[in-house]
Amino acid sequence: MKIYLPEVRQKQGQVSSYTFAGKITDSFGLESGPSDRLQVKADIRISGDKAFLEGTLEADLTANCSRCLKEFNRHLDVDFSETFTLQEEISSQGSPAALASEAANQLTVRGDYLYLDEYLRQVFLLAQGYRSLCREDCRGICPMCGVDLNNGHCGCVQGEEVDPRLKVLKDYFPRS
Ligand SMILES: [Zn+2]
Ligand SMILES: [Zn+2]
Repeated sequence: MKIYLPEVRQKQGQVSSYTFAGKITDSFGLESGPSDRLQVKADIRISGDKAFLEGTLEADLTANCSRCLKEFNRHLDVDFSETFTLQEEISSQGSPAALASEAANQLTVRGDYLYLDEYLRQVFLLAQGYRSLCREDCRGICPMCGVDLNNGHCGCVQGEEVDPRLKVLKDYFPRS
């Protein structure tokens, strides 16, 4: 996913709109299962040496629920907006250290193309979050028998058995 900046600059501050569609695997190099689909709508305008980007990223992927471990199809719909600083392709001044720190800053763009893959990859990963649930109120699996509690109660009495990791503590602190 890339945007040809001279084309945007020609619009003299007006918004240019782009859409990209493809596969998550191809764009981000991430495994995402059979429902793998990615669609990006991006509006961009350039004013001076700044490029203002905003848009939405929609993705369909296959994920495993953090609670019940079941595989499910997940839909992500996330807004993004970012300002990029545009620079001349060749910089004749600046110490090597300054150049290195500029290169490390992905929000600085050199040359005619704004490459969006890495930026959108971050947006995508952030939107995925640290856990994914098949539904907000997923009940998970029984810690004792492993039954999926979304399908009904298994009959285990909660608290009857102790997690082996906790049992160590229980033996260590016997009830007096
Ligand atoms: Zn679940
Ligand atoms: Zn159970």
